[in-house]
Amino acid sequence: MSRNTASATAPLAPGSTIGILGGGQLGRMTAMAAAQLGYRCHIFAPETDCPAAQVSAAATIAAYEDRDALAAFAAAVDVVTFEFENVPHESVELLSRAVPVRPGWDALRISQDRGVEKDFIAGLGIATTPYARAGSVGELRDVVETLGRPSVLKTTRMGYDGKGQVLIGPDSDLDEAWVQMASGTGILEAFVDLEKELSVIVARGLDGALATYPAVENVHRNHILHTTTAPAAISEALAAEAQGVAERIAQAMDLTGLLAVEMFVTRDGRLLVNEIAPRPHNSGHWTMDACVCGQFEQLVRAVCGLPLGSTVPHSDAVMTNLIGDDVNAWAALAAEPGACLHLYGKAETRPGRKMGHVTRLTPKGKG
Ligand code: AMP
Repeated sequence: MSRNTASATAPLAPGSTIGILGGGQLGRMTAMAAAQLGYRCHIFAPETDCPAAQVSAAATIAAYEDRDALAAFAAAVDVVTFEFENVPHESVELLSRAVPVRPGWDALRISQDRGVEKDFIAGLGIATTPYARAGSVGELRDVVETLGRPSVLKTTRMGYDGKGQVLIGPDSDLDEAWVQMASGTGILEAFVDLEKELSVIVARGLDGALATYPAVENVHRNHILHTTTAPAAISEALAAEAQGVAERIAQAMDLTGLLAVEMFVTRDGRLLVNEIAPRPHNSGHWTMDACVCGQFEQLVRAVCGLPLGSTVPHSDAVMTNLIGDDVNAWAALAAEPGACLHLYGKAETRPGRKMGHVTRLTPKGKG
């Protein structure tokens, strides 16, 4: 099929090239889904031999600030998407002048900063964890007075898998907590007495159509996602509320692509948004094996202007991350009937590093 140029509405024909910023496993699995639909992928990432480049037609190894490399990349692709959200504004602007960038800067801008993100969500009338900004240790003292202890101090930018987070307990020293956070600005959140952690992934197409996966239940260990169980064991009403929250945020962001929304369920049954990500998400990996159209294919469909696929699961699923040495069990997992094994091709195993995942399926309603 012939190449065409992505326009505001026309679908991008198979054979075209999707540019992906970021070289990790999310980019790898996006590239594999793109290949299934006949697209090529070109990865832009700072690391050589990254998981995404291993399975893609082309790769540019350069810093996210390298303007010459970005310009050449933009000229070589038909649309650009992201596998992580912390790309500098100037780079996104440069790319946008040459090629459609989906999602666009607005979605990235909001999700790059926890404070901006929380203000945006609260501005939609959606409940978040109670929070306040702290730009100095003095301000931290004030907001700890207001929000109380225990509370969690989080860096506003570049925090993931619990990095840049400090629990403020009854005896915590605030000077030490500020140093430990290692960032110029933070937000303090009230510590939520959690019943469960949920997430919902919604895709939004170029035409504004929505496709929403069921709410799932996430268990974290050491701040890193350990398991995702789909569907979440919650009432239909709460599941529908969680899906509705994700849809409202995606619409308000005018997003083309995927949005993952992580939420807490409090002991008294309230839903609070914790954080969002405008990209594929670890808690959506189960969809690859349990739905006709998984999250990565859904992202490809959205950014290429294709109709979105079905989000209805054919099976229930439990996804378990393989973190660090967990991956050494690969041979046993490969021998396990019914286990869907995914390995990310990372040469070096490190503690806390996501090396792969395994999804176990059961017939719907029988798990
Ligand atoms: P985050 O990086 O914000 O997703 O936080 C990582 C994990 O830390 C969450 O999934 C929760 O398990 C826990 N956590 C974060 N913020 C809070 C909070 N305000 N109250 C209770 N637990 C939290």
